[in-house]
Amino acid sequence: MKPAPFAYLRARSVAHALGLLAPTSEEGDSKVLAGGQSLVTLMNLRLARPDRLVDIGGLTELERTFEDTDAVVLGALVRHRMLETDPTLRRRIPLVAAAVGHIGHVAIRNRGTLGGSLSHADPAAELPLVMTVHDAVIHVESARAGRRAIRAEEFFESVFTTTMEPDELLTWVTVPSARPGQGWGFVEFAPRIGDYAQAGAACLVTVRPDGTVTTVRAGLMAAADRPLMVSRPDDVVSGIPTEQTWTRLAAQWTSGLEPMTDDPEHTRALCRVALAQALGAAYRRGRTNEQEAA
Ligand SMILES: Cc1cc2nc3c(=O)[nH]c(=O)nc-3n(C[C@H](O)[C@H](O)[C@H](O)COP(=O)(O)OP(=O)(O)OC[C@H]3O[C@@H](n4cnc5c(N)ncnc54)[C@H](O)[C@@H]3O)c2cc1C
Repeated sequence: MKPAPFAYLRARSVAHALGLLAPTSEEGDSKVLAGGQSLVTLMNLRLARPDRLVDIGGLTELERTFEDTDAVVLGALVRHRMLETDPTLRRRIPLVAAAVGHIGHVAIRNRGTLGGSLSHADPAAELPLVMTVHDAVIHVESARAGRRAIRAEEFFESVFTTTMEPDELLTWVTVPSARPGQGWGFVEFAPRIGDYAQAGAACLVTVRPDGTVTTVRAGLMAAADRPLMVSRPDDVVSGIPTEQTWTRLAAQWTSGLEPMTDDPEHTRALCRVALAQALGAAYRRGRTNEQEAA
């Protein structure tokens, strides 16, 4: 299939892109084109029929990354492959680097962008989940309303739907970086390498030098209509946790899941196992202060 006719507009700057995205009654609806890895397929299948495509691919300013004291700031056009391979990002946000390695194949990761994946909001996608577990802040901008900062947990609304307005452009993402004693875990089950996940879990566990745990943040992908945080601040991990602790917590945190799949019981089981493994791995890494992506 080929896409329905559309007007192609190439943005020269962020301000220019915002102007092109501003709604006007006679020009029809506009869509941002970033890496094209999801949008072009949808257009070819005629599941998306935008009147105008605003190509932001030339906005090199949004390909940049910045290091802050306790966070990294990533431009919307940072490619998956950069998140996966850049030595600084692998050290400062290893959970993100590890998760991104599961996205499709290298050719897709070379083109797909951070902003595109977050805006696409697929509940089975890796980046929406790890940004939610990280409590990242997503920055969006429009000519109409200026800048807004949205916590990842409030950004994803439902399947392929975010709280962004159609005239808003996702510009930057602020991701808190790994702290001393904080370990990460990411486990995903997919039918074949490169396929979308059937289930997956990501977590960050902060461990004191004596082996006790201060915080656990854990979430699941493909388990609901958006990335799903399952850890609760009041579920205290007392004493030194063992593998049984993580197995018990994973069972507790997945028991009420109602995944929208053909076989919810099977999906629940995959989520439970992924979560137990990810929690155990995060704890071990936190304990040994191992912070580089594996
Ligand atoms: C064969 C194949 C396998 C794949 N496997 C996986 C996988 O396992 N896991 C996974 O997560 N993804 C997978 N993907 C999707 C891939 O990660 C995409 O790169 C990603 O979903 C979208 O990024 P993009 O830059 O290509 O965005 P595009 O396709 O250009 O855009 C996607 C959507 O986001 C909007 N958008 C893009 N950028 C912005 C912005 N800055 N502001 C506002 N809106 C914006 C677009 O308008 C569009 O609606 C796969 C893709 C293919 C083709």
